[in-house]
Amino acid sequence: MFRNAVKVARLFGINVEIDISWFIVFFLFSFTLAGNYFPQQIPGLAETVYWLLGFGVTILFFVSVLVHELSHSLVAIKEGIPIKTITLFIFGGVAQLQEEPKNPTAELRITVAGPLASLGMAALFGLAYLLAPAGQPLTEGLAFLARINLIVAVFNLIPAFPLDGGRIMRAFLWRRWDNLLRATKIAVTTGSFLAFFVMALGFLSLFQGSAWGLWYIILGWIIFQAGQRSYGQVAMQDILSGIKIAEVMSEDVKVVPADHTIEELVSMFYRHKFGAFPIIEDNNLKGLVTMNQVKDVEQRKWAFTRVREIMTPLKDCIIMKPGDEAVEAMMKMASKGEGRVLVIEDGELAGILSNTDMMRLINMKNVFGR
Ligand SMILES: [Zn+2]
Repeated sequence: MFRNAVKVARLFGINVEIDISWFIVFFLFSFTLAGNYFPQQIPGLAETVYWLLGFGVTILFFVSVLVHELSHSLVAIKEGIPIKTITLFIFGGVAQLQEEPKNPTAELRITVAGPLASLGMAALFGLAYLLAPAGQPLTEGLAFLARINLIVAVFNLIPAFPLDGGRIMRAFLWRRWDNLLRATKIAVTTGSFLAFFVMALGFLSLFQGSAWGLWYIILGWIIFQAGQRSYGQVAMQDILSGIKIAEVMSEDVKVVPADHTIEELVSMFYRHKFGAFPIIEDNNLKGLVTMNQVKDVEQRKWAFTRVREIMTPLKDCIIMKPGDEAVEAMMKMASKGEGRVLVIEDGELAGILSNTDMMRLINMKNVFGR
Protein backbone atom coordinates (compact mmCIF):
# COMPACT_ATOMS: atom_id res chain seq x y z
CA MET A 1 0.00 0.00 0.00
CA PHE A 2 2.86 2.38 0.81
CA ARG A 3 5.55 2.09 -1.84
CA ASN A 4 7.47 5.17 -0.77
CA ALA A 5 7.86 4.38 2.89
CA VAL A 6 11.17 4.34 4.76
CA LYS A 7 11.79 2.13 7.75
CA VAL A 8 12.84 4.26 10.72
CA ALA A 9 12.66 1.97 13.74
CA ARG A 10 11.77 -1.44 15.07
CA LEU A 11 9.62 -1.57 18.21
CA PHE A 12 8.29 -4.77 19.86
CA GLY A 13 9.23 -6.66 16.70
CA ILE A 14 7.20 -4.28 14.49
CA ASN A 15 8.78 -2.20 11.73
CA VAL A 16 7.92 1.47 11.98
CA GLU A 17 7.85 3.16 8.56
CA ILE A 18 7.34 6.72 7.42
CA ASP A 19 5.68 7.35 4.07
CA ILE A 20 7.00 10.35 2.11
CA SER A 21 3.55 11.95 2.25
CA TRP A 22 4.15 12.26 6.00
CA PHE A 23 6.91 14.87 5.47
CA ILE A 24 4.36 17.18 3.88
CA VAL A 25 2.22 17.18 7.02
CA PHE A 26 5.28 17.34 9.21
CA PHE A 27 6.40 20.60 7.66
CA LEU A 28 2.88 22.02 7.27
CA PHE A 29 2.25 21.31 10.92
CA SER A 30 5.55 22.72 12.19
CA PHE A 31 5.21 25.85 10.05
CA THR A 32 1.64 26.51 11.12
CA LEU A 33 2.51 26.04 14.79
CA ALA A 34 5.73 28.08 14.71
CA GLY A 35 4.59 30.80 12.31
CA ASN A 36 1.01 31.21 13.40
CA TYR A 37 -0.39 29.30 16.33
CA PHE A 38 2.22 29.84 19.06
CA PRO A 39 2.93 33.51 18.22
CA GLN A 40 -0.82 34.12 18.73
CA GLN A 41 -1.03 32.13 21.95
CA ILE A 42 2.11 33.54 23.58
CA PRO A 43 3.23 36.73 21.80
CA GLY A 44 6.58 38.43 22.24
CA LEU A 45 8.98 35.47 22.19
CA ALA A 46 12.10 35.07 20.07
CA GLU A 47 11.66 33.47 16.62
CA THR A 48 13.87 30.50 17.57
CA VAL A 49 11.66 29.68 20.56
CA TYR A 50 8.61 29.45 18.27
CA TRP A 51 10.49 27.19 15.88
CA LEU A 52 11.83 24.90 18.59
CA LEU A 53 8.35 24.71 20.07
CA GLY A 54 6.77 24.09 16.66
CA PHE A 55 9.10 21.23 15.76
CA GLY A 56 9.10 19.77 19.27
CA VAL A 57 5.31 19.71 19.51
CA THR A 58 4.99 18.27 15.98
CA ILE A 59 7.38 15.45 16.84
CA LEU A 60 5.48 14.70 20.06
CA PHE A 61 2.21 14.74 18.09
CA PHE A 62 3.57 12.08 15.75
CA VAL A 63 4.89 10.08 18.69
CA SER A 64 1.30 10.22 19.98
CA VAL A 65 -0.02 8.86 16.67
CA LEU A 66 2.58 6.11 16.87
CA VAL A 67 1.51 5.23 20.44
CA HIS A 68 -2.10 5.00 19.17
CA GLU A 69 -1.07 2.52 16.46
CA LEU A 70 1.26 0.62 18.79
CA SER A 71 -1.65 0.13 21.20
CA HIS A 72 -3.72 -1.48 18.43
CA SER A 73 -0.71 -3.59 17.47
CA LEU A 74 0.21 -4.84 20.93
CA VAL A 75 -3.35 -5.94 21.65
CA ALA A 76 -3.50 -7.59 18.21
CA ILE A 77 -0.31 -9.52 18.92
CA LYS A 78 -1.81 -10.59 22.26
CA GLU A 79 -4.86 -11.81 20.32
CA GLY A 80 -2.58 -13.90 18.12
CA ILE A 81 -2.54 -11.66 15.04
CA PRO A 82 0.92 -10.86 13.72
CA ILE A 83 1.73 -7.23 12.82
CA LYS A 84 4.62 -6.57 10.50
CA THR A 85 4.57 -2.82 10.03
CA ILE A 86 3.15 0.43 11.27
CA THR A 87 3.20 3.17 8.65
CA LEU A 88 2.88 6.85 9.40
CA PHE A 89 1.44 8.77 6.46
CA ILE A 90 -0.27 12.04 5.61
CA PHE A 91 -3.49 11.25 7.50
CA GLY A 92 -1.96 9.62 10.56
CA GLY A 93 -0.95 6.02 10.97
CA VAL A 94 -1.94 2.48 10.08
CA ALA A 95 -0.96 -0.76 11.73
CA GLN A 96 -1.03 -3.49 9.11
CA LEU A 97 -2.72 -6.55 10.54
CA GLN A 98 -1.58 -9.69 8.75
CA GLU A 99 -5.04 -11.18 9.08
CA GLU A 100 -8.50 -10.16 10.26
CA PRO A 101 -9.45 -10.71 13.91
CA LYS A 102 -10.96 -14.15 14.44
CA ASN A 103 -13.98 -13.07 16.46
CA PRO A 104 -15.87 -9.86 17.33
CA THR A 105 -14.45 -9.71 20.86
CA ALA A 106 -10.88 -9.74 19.52
CA GLU A 107 -11.76 -7.04 16.98
CA LEU A 108 -13.36 -4.91 19.67
CA ARG A 109 -10.34 -5.20 22.01
CA ILE A 110 -7.83 -4.42 19.24
CA THR A 111 -9.86 -1.45 18.01
CA VAL A 112 -10.71 0.17 21.33
CA ALA A 113 -7.03 0.16 22.39
CA GLY A 114 -6.17 2.97 19.95
CA PRO A 115 -8.67 5.65 20.96
CA LEU A 116 -8.12 4.69 24.62
CA ALA A 117 -4.40 5.32 24.22
CA SER A 118 -5.14 8.72 22.63
CA LEU A 119 -7.52 9.61 25.46
CA GLY A 120 -4.89 8.50 27.98
CA MET A 121 -2.29 10.72 26.36
CA ALA A 122 -4.74 13.63 26.25
CA ALA A 123 -5.20 13.16 30.02
CA LEU A 124 -1.45 12.94 30.67
CA PHE A 125 -0.59 16.03 28.63
CA GLY A 126 -3.58 17.80 30.21
CA LEU A 127 -2.35 16.95 33.70
CA ALA A 128 1.18 18.09 32.86
CA TYR A 129 -0.33 21.33 31.53
CA LEU A 130 -2.18 21.96 34.80
CA LEU A 131 0.96 21.30 36.85
CA ALA A 132 3.24 23.44 34.66
CA PRO A 133 3.73 27.17 35.36
CA ALA A 134 1.17 29.23 33.41
CA GLY A 135 2.11 31.42 30.45
CA GLN A 136 5.33 29.53 29.62
CA PRO A 137 6.03 28.33 26.04
CA LEU A 138 6.29 24.69 27.16
CA THR A 139 2.98 24.94 29.00
CA GLU A 140 1.25 26.09 25.79
CA GLY A 141 2.85 23.17 23.98
CA LEU A 142 1.40 20.74 26.52
CA ALA A 143 -2.05 22.30 26.17
CA PHE A 144 -1.88 21.84 22.42
CA LEU A 145 -0.78 18.20 22.73
CA ALA A 146 -3.62 17.45 25.16
CA ARG A 147 -6.13 18.97 22.71
CA ILE A 148 -4.77 17.26 19.59
CA ASN A 149 -4.78 13.83 21.25
CA LEU A 150 -8.39 14.38 22.21
CA ILE A 151 -9.16 15.30 18.59
CA VAL A 152 -7.38 12.15 17.35
CA ALA A 153 -9.46 10.00 19.74
CA VAL A 154 -12.75 11.61 18.72
CA PHE A 155 -11.96 11.63 14.98
CA ASN A 156 -11.10 7.93 15.03
CA LEU A 157 -14.38 7.12 16.77
CA ILE A 158 -16.42 8.40 13.79
CA PRO A 159 -18.29 5.27 12.62
CA ALA A 160 -16.79 5.33 9.13
CA PHE A 161 -15.28 1.92 8.47
CA PRO A 162 -12.29 1.29 8.40
CA LEU A 163 -11.78 4.03 11.01
CA ASP A 164 -11.81 2.72 14.59
CA GLY A 165 -15.42 3.82 15.14
CA GLY A 166 -16.54 1.85 12.08
CA ARG A 167 -14.63 -1.21 13.28
CA ILE A 168 -16.31 -0.98 16.68
CA MET A 169 -19.67 -0.82 14.92
CA ARG A 170 -18.74 -3.85 12.80
CA ALA A 171 -17.67 -5.80 15.89
CA PHE A 172 -21.07 -5.22 17.52
CA LEU A 173 -23.00 -6.16 14.36
CA TRP A 174 -20.75 -9.17 13.86
CA ARG A 175 -21.42 -10.39 17.38
CA ARG A 176 -25.15 -9.82 16.94
CA TRP A 177 -25.57 -11.53 13.54
CA ASP A 178 -22.63 -13.92 13.73
CA ASN A 179 -22.01 -13.00 10.10
CA LEU A 180 -18.81 -11.09 9.31
CA LEU A 181 -19.68 -10.43 5.67
CA ARG A 182 -23.05 -8.87 6.47
CA ALA A 183 -21.60 -6.83 9.34
CA THR A 184 -18.80 -5.56 7.11
CA LYS A 185 -21.26 -4.63 4.38
CA ILE A 186 -23.33 -2.48 6.73
CA ALA A 187 -20.25 -0.89 8.35
CA VAL A 188 -18.77 -0.12 4.92
CA THR A 189 -22.06 1.31 3.62
CA THR A 190 -22.38 3.60 6.65
CA GLY A 191 -18.73 4.55 6.19
CA SER A 192 -19.28 5.37 2.51
CA PHE A 193 -22.20 7.67 3.34
CA LEU A 194 -20.06 9.50 5.89
CA ALA A 195 -17.16 9.62 3.43
CA PHE A 196 -19.39 11.23 0.78
CA PHE A 197 -20.73 13.62 3.40
CA VAL A 198 -17.14 14.65 4.25
CA MET A 199 -16.41 15.11 0.53
CA ALA A 200 -19.55 17.21 0.09
CA LEU A 201 -18.45 19.43 2.99
CA GLY A 202 -15.09 19.68 1.27
CA PHE A 203 -16.63 20.88 -2.01
CA LEU A 204 -18.82 23.33 -0.13
CA SER A 205 -15.90 24.92 1.68
CA LEU A 206 -13.86 24.87 -1.53
CA PHE A 207 -16.61 26.91 -3.24
CA GLN A 208 -16.56 29.28 -0.30
CA GLY A 209 -12.90 29.87 -1.01
CA SER A 210 -11.29 27.79 1.72
CA ALA A 211 -8.40 25.61 0.56
CA TRP A 212 -9.07 23.27 3.49
CA GLY A 213 -11.93 21.84 1.42
CA LEU A 214 -9.44 19.94 -0.68
CA TRP A 215 -8.19 18.22 2.46
CA TYR A 216 -11.72 17.01 3.31
CA ILE A 217 -12.28 15.77 -0.23
CA ILE A 218 -9.10 13.69 -0.17
CA LEU A 219 -9.87 12.40 3.32
CA GLY A 220 -13.39 11.32 2.32
CA TRP A 221 -12.06 9.64 -0.79
CA ILE A 222 -9.43 7.72 1.20
CA ILE A 223 -12.06 6.50 3.69
CA PHE A 224 -14.35 5.44 0.82
CA GLN A 225 -11.56 3.55 -0.98
CA ALA A 226 -10.30 1.83 2.15
CA GLY A 227 -13.83 0.70 2.97
CA GLN A 228 -14.35 -0.79 -0.49
CA ARG A 229 -11.02 -2.57 -0.27
CA SER A 230 -11.81 -4.07 3.13
CA TYR A 231 -15.19 -5.24 1.90
CA GLY A 232 -13.58 -6.87 -1.13
CA GLN A 233 -11.19 -8.76 1.13
CA VAL A 234 -13.89 -10.00 3.46
CA ALA A 235 -16.14 -11.01 0.53
CA MET A 236 -13.29 -12.97 -0.99
CA GLN A 237 -12.54 -14.69 2.31
CA ASP A 238 -16.19 -15.60 2.52
CA ILE A 239 -16.16 -17.16 -0.96
CA LEU A 240 -12.97 -19.09 -0.26
CA SER A 241 -13.79 -20.23 3.26
CA GLY A 242 -13.42 -23.98 3.69
CA ILE A 243 -11.67 -24.43 0.34
CA LYS A 244 -8.35 -26.29 0.48
CA ILE A 245 -5.32 -25.48 -1.65
CA ALA A 246 -5.54 -28.94 -3.27
CA GLU A 247 -8.88 -27.98 -4.85
CA VAL A 248 -7.52 -24.83 -6.51
CA MET A 249 -3.88 -25.51 -7.33
CA SER A 250 -2.51 -26.57 -10.71
CA GLU A 251 -1.18 -30.10 -10.44
CA ASP A 252 0.11 -30.15 -13.99
CA VAL A 253 3.55 -28.73 -13.26
CA LYS A 254 6.67 -28.96 -15.38
CA VAL A 255 10.05 -28.63 -13.67
CA VAL A 256 13.21 -27.11 -15.14
CA PRO A 257 16.76 -28.17 -14.17
CA ALA A 258 18.80 -25.42 -12.49
CA ASP A 259 21.62 -25.64 -15.04
CA HIS A 260 19.37 -24.88 -18.02
CA THR A 261 20.09 -21.59 -19.74
CA ILE A 262 17.56 -18.81 -19.90
CA GLU A 263 17.22 -19.44 -23.61
CA GLU A 264 16.06 -22.99 -22.88
CA LEU A 265 13.79 -21.66 -20.15
CA VAL A 266 12.15 -19.17 -22.49
CA SER A 267 11.34 -21.94 -24.96
CA MET A 268 9.74 -23.84 -22.04
CA PHE A 269 7.56 -20.80 -21.35
CA TYR A 270 6.47 -20.79 -24.99
CA ARG A 271 5.89 -24.54 -25.15
CA HIS A 272 3.92 -24.97 -21.91
CA LYS A 273 2.44 -21.50 -21.43
CA PHE A 274 2.91 -21.61 -17.66
CA GLY A 275 3.69 -18.42 -15.76
CA ALA A 276 6.35 -20.07 -13.60
CA PHE A 277 8.48 -23.20 -13.28
CA PRO A 278 9.81 -24.94 -10.18
CA ILE A 279 13.57 -25.45 -10.48
CA ILE A 280 15.25 -28.75 -9.60
CA GLU A 281 18.83 -29.85 -9.13
CA ASP A 282 19.80 -33.52 -8.50
CA ASN A 283 16.10 -34.29 -8.20
CA ASN A 284 15.71 -31.80 -5.36
CA LEU A 285 13.47 -28.78 -5.51
CA LYS A 286 15.67 -25.65 -5.42
CA GLY A 287 13.41 -22.73 -6.20
CA LEU A 288 10.97 -21.08 -8.56
CA VAL A 289 11.37 -18.92 -11.62
CA THR A 290 8.75 -16.61 -13.13
CA MET A 291 8.47 -14.80 -16.47
CA ASN A 292 9.21 -11.48 -14.80
CA GLN A 293 12.55 -12.73 -13.55
CA VAL A 294 13.57 -13.51 -17.13
CA LYS A 295 12.60 -10.00 -18.17
CA ASP A 296 15.25 -8.59 -15.83
CA VAL A 297 18.06 -10.27 -17.78
CA GLU A 298 19.39 -8.68 -20.96
CA GLN A 299 18.57 -10.79 -24.01
CA ARG A 300 22.21 -11.07 -25.16
CA LYS A 301 23.02 -12.86 -21.88
CA TRP A 302 20.28 -15.48 -22.25
CA ALA A 303 22.53 -18.05 -23.93
CA PHE A 304 25.01 -18.28 -21.07
CA THR A 305 23.01 -17.31 -17.95
CA ARG A 306 21.81 -20.31 -15.93
CA VAL A 307 18.35 -20.53 -14.45
CA ARG A 308 19.80 -20.96 -10.93
CA GLU A 309 21.27 -17.45 -11.13
CA ILE A 310 17.88 -15.79 -11.50
CA MET A 311 15.50 -18.11 -9.62
CA THR A 312 13.91 -17.33 -6.27
CA PRO A 313 15.64 -19.77 -3.89
CA LEU A 314 13.40 -22.18 -2.01
CA LYS A 315 13.90 -20.39 1.30
CA ASP A 316 12.30 -17.23 -0.14
CA CYS A 317 9.33 -19.03 -1.73
CA ILE A 318 5.96 -19.38 -0.05
CA ILE A 319 5.57 -23.06 0.72
CA MET A 320 2.30 -24.64 1.86
CA LYS A 321 0.58 -28.02 2.01
CA PRO A 322 -2.32 -29.25 -0.19
CA GLY A 323 -4.51 -29.47 2.92
CA ASP A 324 -3.95 -25.81 3.96
CA GLU A 325 -6.71 -23.23 3.53
CA ALA A 326 -6.81 -21.38 0.20
CA VAL A 327 -7.65 -18.14 2.05
CA GLU A 328 -4.43 -18.43 4.01
CA ALA A 329 -2.45 -18.87 0.80
CA MET A 330 -4.06 -15.77 -0.65
CA MET A 331 -3.22 -13.69 2.41
CA LYS A 332 0.38 -14.89 2.37
CA MET A 333 0.71 -14.00 -1.29
CA ALA A 334 -0.77 -10.56 -0.69
CA SER A 335 1.42 -9.78 2.30
CA LYS A 336 4.64 -10.96 0.61
CA GLY A 337 3.71 -9.41 -2.74
CA GLU A 338 4.16 -12.79 -4.46
CA GLY A 339 1.94 -14.30 -7.11
CA ARG A 340 2.54 -18.00 -6.33
CA VAL A 341 2.71 -20.66 -3.66
CA LEU A 342 4.71 -23.88 -4.00
CA VAL A 343 2.55 -26.73 -2.72
CA ILE A 344 4.64 -29.47 -1.16
CA GLU A 345 3.66 -32.66 0.66
CA ASP A 346 6.08 -35.10 2.28
CA GLY A 347 8.98 -33.38 0.54
CA GLU A 348 7.37 -33.88 -2.89
CA LEU A 349 6.11 -31.10 -5.14
CA ALA A 350 2.32 -31.48 -5.36
CA GLY A 351 1.52 -28.41 -7.43
CA ILE A 352 1.62 -24.64 -7.77
CA LEU A 353 -1.08 -22.27 -6.64
CA SER A 354 -1.11 -18.93 -8.43
CA ASN A 355 -3.11 -15.75 -8.08
CA THR A 356 -4.60 -16.60 -11.47
CA ASP A 357 -5.85 -19.96 -10.12
CA MET A 358 -7.51 -18.12 -7.24
CA MET A 359 -9.10 -15.52 -9.51
CA ARG A 360 -10.42 -18.24 -11.81
CA LEU A 361 -12.03 -20.01 -8.87
CA ILE A 362 -13.56 -16.80 -7.50
CA ASN A 363 -14.89 -16.04 -10.97
CA MET A 364 -16.44 -19.52 -11.25
CA LYS A 365 -18.02 -19.19 -7.82
CA ASN A 366 -19.51 -15.85 -8.88
CA VAL A 367 -20.85 -17.25 -12.15
CA PHE A 368 -22.22 -20.55 -10.86
CA GLY A 369 -23.20 -19.25 -7.44
CA ARG A 370 -21.85 -22.26 -5.61
ZN1 LIG B 1 -6.92 3.62 15.55
